[in-house]
Amino acid sequence: MQPVSEFYNNLPRKSCAHCGAVMSEQAESYKTSCDECEAKNNYPA
Ligand SMILES: [Zn+2]
Repeated sequence: MQPVSEFYNNLPRKSCAHCGAVMSEQAESYKTSCDECEAKNNYPA
């Protein structure tokens, strides 16, 4: 057994797959990119 705090520290930080920005815990779990990059993906130039 390990302390709960250590368990959470070992979890990978949720970050944008495109720009690497750390995403807030409020972001939907299925997202792999931040809102800014996702907007670019939804509306390609
Ligand atoms: Zn991004």
